[in-house]
Amino acid sequence: MREGIHPEYNNIKVTCVCGESFETGSVKKELRVEICYKCHPFYTGSQRTIEIGGRADKFRKKYGIN
Ligand SMILES: [Zn+2]
Repeated sequence: MREGIHPEYNNIKVTCVCGESFETGSVKKELRVEICYKCHPFYTGSQRTIEIGGRADKFRKKYGIN
């Protein structure tokens, strides 16, 4: 039996800032993300502000964009 045919590929836990965690395959041992499939507007369909510090809100007010 030969070893080392496959690259080092682990089942790791990915943790999102929203609290969601899921497993995925990666060569990394741990992964932290700021957005995931559960809180990404593209997937949730919501338009809530995800930018840190509400920069988008200030931007919208400044330019009158709602
Ligand atoms: Zn998330």
